[in-house]
Amino acid sequence: SVTPATLSAISNGAKNGVLFKGGAAMEALSTMDILYSDKTGTITMGDFKVVDYEVDEASLAEVVYMEQQSSHPIAEAIVAAFKELNLDLVDQTQPVEEAAGSGVRKGDIKVGKPAAFEGYEDPAHYRSKETAGNTTILVGKDHIIIGYLSLSDQVRKESAPAISGFQREGVEVTLLTGDNEKAAKKVADEVGISHYVASLLPEDKIKFIHNSKEKNKVVGMIGDGINDAPALANADIGIAMGSGSSVAMESADVVIVKNDLSKLFSSFKLSHKLNRIIS
Ligand code: ADP
Ligand code: MG
Repeated sequence: SVTPATLSAISNGAKNGVLFKGGAAMEALSTMDILYSDKTGTITMGDFKVVDYEVDEASLAEVVYMEQQSSHPIAEAIVAAFKELNLDLVDQTQPVEEAAGSGVRKGDIKVGKPAAFEGYEDPAHYRSKETAGNTTILVGKDHIIIGYLSLSDQVRKESAPAISGFQREGVEVTLLTGDNEKAAKKVADEVGISHYVASLLPEDKIKFIHNSKEKNKVVGMIGDGINDAPALANADIGIAMGSGSSVAMESADVVIVKNDLSKLFSSFKLSHKLNRIIS
């Protein structure tokens, strides 16, 4: 049953744009030991811009067509950057498959994270285009890397203060990302997270949550993507960004409507007070 104190905390959260799907979520938040966080779209805006690329025009048209079928923030940035491009020569009868947290494939063409191109030849050394802080994705055809695109993103201004707040209150914050090591480190450093793990697949994120739960920790997970949904569902407190995919919001116990992490921290502090009232 939901106590009046919990109800009042939930209604206060709602006023601040933090929606709790019930009293249990509010009470779990108050005892959270560990907060796992996704990077892209959660700590960062997920508002990518293509800053650099090298792909021949015919392949670029394929890439744009493939990314039109994806809702990933990287896909949206690529589609926006090349919207003038003529896609008439693309074979649009061939299906596009998406591997969540990795990239997209159409026939023998693949676009996605560098880790997805193991065993590919790289005659033009596109792998070395990975620069600190940017997200580099590769384009491959017939097991040869034929191009790359480099995209930049920005940290949300609310991230660093909210994270230091949680840490001050004794919550251990760890960044879990499917992105590369350099991009992960740059964002972790920028917002003051000392624990981060890069190049993860969606199922890897779940493993971290299970391991911590086995140690009897109360585990929070915050994310925005379709790929985060299983991790959100497995955490004690799944938290979704309001800008995230609908699947993420459905899998979560808490939704931060305007993506403002500092509002989640306010709810956390309020939930602490609530705990004191109960006990
Ligand atoms: P994060 O965990 O940081 O939110 P994701 O798990 O969504 O990141 O994606 C991990 C990586 O997979 C991205 O950094 C990108 O390199 C690659 N990726 C995912 N989806 C796509 C896509 N539609 N097109 C190209 N690359 C993609
Ligand atoms: Mg994300």
